[in-house]
Amino acid sequence: MVGGPTQETDGGGDANTASVQAFPDVTQNVRVRFDQHRALDAIERRLATDPLRTGGIVEVTEAVRFADLDSGKEASLLRLGLLVDGLARLLGDGGVALYPVADRGLLSDTELTSNERMVLRRWSDDGLLEILPAGAPALARAGEVSALTGQPVLTRAQIRGYALRPTPGGGGAVQLVPVGPGPAPVPEQALRVLTRMWRCPVSDCPSFGRPGTGQSPPQLAQGVPTCPRHGERLTDAGARPPVVALVVRVGGLVRQRFAVAAGSPVVVGRAPDQRGAVALGPMLDEEARTWVSRKHVALELRPDGVYATDMSTNGTVVVGPEGRGRMPAGQARRLGEREILELTDGVEVARAGTATGTTEATAPGSVMTDAPTIAIRMPRNGR
Ligand SMILES: [Zn+2]
Repeated sequence: MVGGPTQETDGGGDANTASVQAFPDVTQNVRVRFDQHRALDAIERRLATDPLRTGGIVEVTEAVRFADLDSGKEASLLRLGLLVDGLARLLGDGGVALYPVADRGLLSDTELTSNERMVLRRWSDDGLLEILPAGAPALARAGEVSALTGQPVLTRAQIRGYALRPTPGGGGAVQLVPVGPGPAPVPEQALRVLTRMWRCPVSDCPSFGRPGTGQSPPQLAQGVPTCPRHGERLTDAGARPPVVALVVRVGGLVRQRFAVAAGSPVVVGRAPDQRGAVALGPMLDEEARTWVSRKHVALELRPDGVYATDMSTNGTVVVGPEGRGRMPAGQARRLGEREILELTDGVEVARAGTATGTTEATAPGSVMTDAPTIAIRMPRNGR
């Protein structure tokens, strides 16, 4: 781009960047709890039970007890973060989420702290964690989700997926080694189940009781769609609206995934204020922040594809097999399968799975940056 960006004056800057280091008199104990809280928040942002957002499935009871990963305490919820980081490195996708499954017994596991158990209950209530009835075979359910979504289970058990190995000398970093031929092909009948919306008779069921287009795969009990949390038979609530998964890439690395459904346009920008919008501000450096508008581009799913409308001050460039071109402002333009929207240098919006327009990709950031080293021993060198 030529010349400087046109500045917008909304003062939308960084989120709070103060750290506990600013308060040297804070006690070690308080600081550890504060860091743990921040690390669990970072992990929480990377958990989902909507396969559009996830890239792998994990059985949480197994994951929290991978003590030999870090030679730390018997059970720690922070280990989920090591798996999130391991999956992000494997996929080169710093926005990918994990699909966590556990049976209800985990919520009263006394090896976890009362705070960790409280966090797990909240994740379950918010639909970020799929809690099965006590004693239910959670690893088998993880395998079912894997079969229905084509995403691997991160486990040490002998099933198709990725084997977990501690990185030698990595002090907690996880290596994922592909095992077997990958997930089994999905039967036709099961795929049909995924094209419908389902409702659980239990009111406010976090998996099948809330409006929206994201949905967990139903459990198939002898072919009958069933709620994995409640064991209740699900009712068919109609065809699932078409959804396309898109990603935001910064510096060649996926930083966020989001879905666009028919009838629900999504605005992407530095600090859009709409519900369901994608806010890029925290992912951008100072220069990029001056180029990207508060509301930069709107994406919409129509019957014949994804449409983008430039709403920005400094413009949006479409990069595709036929070259680069500036989008006309304010006009919806159909986005080709392999086209990428460039909001500014290195900041892209594209369909999930498309190649980046940027040649140099950086390594994904860690969700464990704030994890207290006392709770579990942490990887060095930012791994
Ligand atoms: Zn339910």
